[in-house]
Amino acid sequence: MPELPEVETVKRGLAPSMEGSVIKQVELRRADLRFPFPDHFAKDLTGSKIHALGRRAKYLLVELDIGKTLIMHLGMSGSFRIETTGNNSEPGQFHHDKSKNPKHDHVVFQLSNGSTQTAVIYNDPRRFGYMDLIKSSELQDHRYFAKLGIEPTGNSLSGTVIAELFAGKAAPLKSALLDQSLIAGLGNIYVCEILWRSRLSPERKAATLVAKNGRATGRAEDLAIHTRDVIREAIEAGGSSLRDHRQADGSLGYFQHSFDVYDQEGEKCHRVGCKGTIERIVQSGRSTFLCPNCQI
Ligand SMILES: [Zn+2]
Repeated sequence: MPELPEVETVKRGLAPSMEGSVIKQVELRRADLRFPFPDHFAKDLTGSKIHALGRRAKYLLVELDIGKTLIMHLGMSGSFRIETTGNNSEPGQFHHDKSKNPKHDHVVFQLSNGSTQTAVIYNDPRRFGYMDLIKSSELQDHRYFAKLGIEPTGNSLSGTVIAELFAGKAAPLKSALLDQSLIAGLGNIYVCEILWRSRLSPERKAATLVAKNGRATGRAEDLAIHTRDVIREAIEAGGSSLRDHRQADGSLGYFQHSFDVYDQEGEKCHRVGCKGTIERIVQSGRSTFLCPNCQI
């Protein structure tokens, strides 16, 4: 399941082919993905020009010149493939990915930019992804975005902000970090990594990171720093692997990370000097990986 860094990587992979292009045709091979496509979806998109690609939490935002924004969510298994013809001489871009079953190609965007014709193909075997088209002026208040918390990228996430968000919260720290209304875009994998790096137990109450006077504790400051670092490093890893990651056929898959704690049950803790062993517990029905020796 793609998490925020993967979605950011997909955005960066798509941007050079999509930004500045005109959508010539939209081919919908089904009436729905996870949800039905909105009425007149293909017709409304046809003829519009793509200004810019953006991202909010795990949503891809395609800003169009018609005052609307195309919203795309990859769900569990969504991915894109880029096929370019025309004057583009880059080798190897005009091949179908044989490992990808074309029966799961559900949406094809035919794009034109000067003499370059590009097809951006959305493939999604499990069909938990979805697309929508909403007025750009209504984005912030839209139900997808209105309740989203702050982004874990950039400098906005600080110890002070975490203290404000977690004050009075009896929920386990892991649940608080996964709560999209507090911090948007953190998923199970990276939350495990962040907590390990912060030496914090996923089971500790979120409010224990807040001092009695409401200020941030040192632990809250550490958590903010490690959250930003883990996400930034994952995005950078995705960016640097983008060339490999974008296969010869132009498909954008997801990169493999090396994790310190996620999916490492039974392995020795990676922290220098720690003699602990990584354990797996279940919280709210989901696996949590931790080192009980150094995460307190
Ligand atoms: Zn450890």
